[in-house]
Amino acid sequence: MTQPQIAIIGGGPAGLMAAERLSAAGVQVDLFDAMPSVGRKFLLAGRGGLNLTHAEPFADFVQRFGARRPQIEPMLEMFGPQALRDWAQGLGIETFVGTSRRVFPTDMKAAPLLRAWLHRLRAAGVRFHMRHRWIGFAQGAALRFATSDGEVTVRADAALLALGGASWPRLGSDGSWVPLLRERGIDVAPWQPANCGFDIGASGWTPFFAERFAGQPFKSVAIAFEDGQGRRFARKGEFVATATGIEGSLVYAVSALLRDQIAVHGRATLHVDLLPDRSPAQVLAAVQQRGAKSLGSHLKSRLGLDAIKSALLHEVLPREALHDAARVAATLKAAPLTVTAPRPVDEAISTAGGVRFEALDAGLMATAAPGLFIAGEMLDWEAPTGGYLLTASMASGAVAASAMRARLADGRLVPSGPADVYSPR
Ligand SMILES: Cc1cc2nc3c(=O)[nH]c(=O)nc-3n(C[C@H](O)[C@H](O)[C@H](O)COP(=O)(O)OP(=O)(O)OC[C@H]3O[C@@H](n4cnc5c(N)ncnc54)[C@H](O)[C@@H]3O)c2cc1C
Repeated sequence: MTQPQIAIIGGGPAGLMAAERLSAAGVQVDLFDAMPSVGRKFLLAGRGGLNLTHAEPFADFVQRFGARRPQIEPMLEMFGPQALRDWAQGLGIETFVGTSRRVFPTDMKAAPLLRAWLHRLRAAGVRFHMRHRWIGFAQGAALRFATSDGEVTVRADAALLALGGASWPRLGSDGSWVPLLRERGIDVAPWQPANCGFDIGASGWTPFFAERFAGQPFKSVAIAFEDGQGRRFARKGEFVATATGIEGSLVYAVSALLRDQIAVHGRATLHVDLLPDRSPAQVLAAVQQRGAKSLGSHLKSRLGLDAIKSALLHEVLPREALHDAARVAATLKAAPLTVTAPRPVDEAISTAGGVRFEALDAGLMATAAPGLFIAGEMLDWEAPTGGYLLTASMASGAVAASAMRARLADGRLVPSGPADVYSPR
């Protein structure tokens, strides 16, 4: 009997994990990617210190997937945070738990891990076909690819799409597959930016603030926000001023709530505590002790307020209020910032939206296209930064691989039947 042929399209963490699981089980895997090399977003993630996963208790970890927890939790039970750390160790990459309980490779880098991973996959017989852009389906379940030598058609017994979301399209995942799946009757939720920055109010920053502080961090602050449904966010951290608004880790953490509130109300107001380690009474007492000094130098010497925090005070308070100690103190503890639009999807760290779980079975196979599996960020789930994105992407690749194996073992092949993989038309 001919050996079953599997096509994996997309060489990000989800596709590579599926390739690993299948090839380890002795299945011949052909992996296709539009880009000249695989794992580009993974490598970029490594630039900021690759955050592989999170070491919080499993019960807390699964909460991060919000409304999609019921779908993601069973996947994490198969391949969760500890399994990911063990897997990295198996590739010779030790990990450590940072102060925030985020887990990183000891050298913080992605490249050594990806190198070792690809070495393992090649040794297991995975064949890589770069510069193959999937452009849809040919007759039956055959797959069409655009290549530099023209179009080719590939037949496979089962195929996995792991094409990523739609953020940072220059790294390969551009979401151009959405109409292809919709035509096939597979339901895809519209993209939304996740872990994204925001533009602030209609008038934005003053030109002075934007010119002087764009790109500068607000360090040791806290953000508080409560949406219209009583969902609350309050956390310490840091974020960055941009020319038109705000971005950075603390903003990403609250971004889903802000985005959803803007979608309903057109705006969302969060409060920044510029001195989270001091009580309102301490701040008020310090502000009241101002003598002949300018407000800026008084706040700097008494409260250690740096230039960007001081400037924010001037952005949000009218000039006359700057003489009112009670208002200054209250604003230092809760400076209101109104955001009116998330930054576009292509700038976001990740995306919400994608193939709806309702279009799939428990093994991530599209019910409208038997033999076609979907994994990774192209599925409709979202999570904050903190290693949750990589963990769930890889977990879904592992789940799809196991379902593909089960399907092959049952002899339930796609309607096009076994045929020559990679057969140019
Ligand atoms: C700047 C940045 C930093 C990040 N840092 C972290 C972090 O520290 N921790 C974390 O958990 N997550 C992080 N993420 C998110 C994480 O990288 C992604 O969630 C993850 O890579 C998704 O994996 P994936 O396999 O689903 O998709 P991707 O990694 O996006 O891979 C998809 C692959 O599919 C290919 N492809 C797309 N369309 C086609 C097509 N039509 N034909 C053929 N091939 C195609 C692409 O070229 C790509 O190789 C970060 C993201 C960004 C942008």
